[in-house]
Amino acid sequence: MNSLTCIIPIEPTTKVCRKCGIPQPLERFPFEKARQTHRGTCKACRAAESRALRSSAEHAERIREAERIRSKRRRPYILKWQREHPDNMLPGYRRRAARRKERLAAARLAAAQATPQLF
Ligand SMILES: [Zn+2]
Repeated sequence: MNSLTCIIPIEPTTKVCRKCGIPQPLERFPFEKARQTHRGTCKACRAAESRALRSSAEHAERIREAERIRSKRRRPYILKWQREHPDNMLPGYRRRAARRKERLAAARLAAAQATPQLF
């Protein structure tokens, strides 16, 4: 055995979850890059935790509030875009009718150029 192998500690391959207390292989624990180590709570417990959080009414309220703030912040930009693109603000059927009209005019023009004697 050389000196190098002595100072490198043997990586443990299992870890006991802080939450459920079940010893599990290391890959069942999320790896934290910043700390260069695995987290203390296993992935299953963390998933259960966030599932419980997501289904809470308080969380839903937080999401609604964040969305309200976000849409309020976006409003001026949306209004600006709508002012700059009035054509896009028409209902779909109007937009499609306008495009159809354009296509038809272009087709007529092409036909007229192809056979001028007919027109
Ligand atoms: Zn666990």
